Amino acid sequence: MLVKRVIPSGYCKGVVNAIKIAKDTKLNNPNENVYILGMLVHNSYVSKELADLGIITLDDTNKTKEELVDSIDEGIIIFTAHGISDSIKQRVINKNLKYVDATCVDVKKTQDIIRDYLNQGYDVIYFGKRNHPEAQAVLSISDKIHLVSDDNDLNNLTINNDKIFLTNQTTMSYLELADLIVLAKNKYPNIIIEKEICDATSSRQKAIQDLIDCDLLYVVGDVKSNNTNKLVDIGNSKGIKTLLIQSYKDINQDDLKDIEKVYVSAGASTPLHLIDEVIDYLKNI
Ligand code: SF4
Repeated sequence: MLVKRVIPSGYCKGVVNAIKIAKDTKLNNPNENVYILGMLVHNSYVSKELADLGIITLDDTNKTKEELVDSIDEGIIIFTAHGISDSIKQRVINKNLKYVDATCVDVKKTQDIIRDYLNQGYDVIYFGKRNHPEAQAVLSISDKIHLVSDDNDLNNLTINNDKIFLTNQTTMSYLELADLIVLAKNKYPNIIIEKEICDATSSRQKAIQDLIDCDLLYVVGDVKSNNTNKLVDIGNSKGIKTLLIQSYKDINQDDLKDIEKVYVSAGASTPLHLIDEVIDYLKNI
């Protein structure tokens, strides 16, 4: 069986930067509690590694971000790579808490573009994933931003404004975005569009789209990671049998029967050692 790694795959610059910010914050403030508001990046192995350093991840799904901030009275809060809403940042400031912002520059860039169009009087159609922290932060900017997660959402949308702008969450599928743009142009012929899928996401997706002679594709990553799930979608849409695994321990030998060529890709928040372990495991079979 031939085992190959898809290039590029794994950590992106935004994830590397966010992890460095979290570790440096704890290192420079050893006597203070350091909290992360939600998962810093969507990978449970990364969260565990940070916990081992004494960094506390606040990720109670039964609580809103506001409630999580209210539960903190001291220490330093880190905002995650996915961005943060202005109102939550203000809440932190009002409580006189210190904060460090680990928002990815690509996420910030998309937010700035959206603000620009809002200031010019546009309504914004935002293609993103419902309840994802990056989408939540964007939607909090204005009620003139309309979330669409699929074609149905777009079909059901009514906007009474001649000025309409469309953009997207940075980690969506470039194929799904292309389909949605066709629909949006039909519905709103004067729509202005800026594709904002980040380079890390699109290059990882296109590397899968370009695969030839692949019998089986493993995507290593966390089920919560949107960019990881989109890599799985791209593999499946290409007709490749594609399986999401969190580590080599999820590999089922039955899936490898009659497989001659297996490729391994990984989401942008997957640590390198997890990818290497999967490749080593497969090579040793
Ligand atoms: S996937 Fe893209 S937007 Fe998200 S952290 Fe990485 S570089 Fe930034």
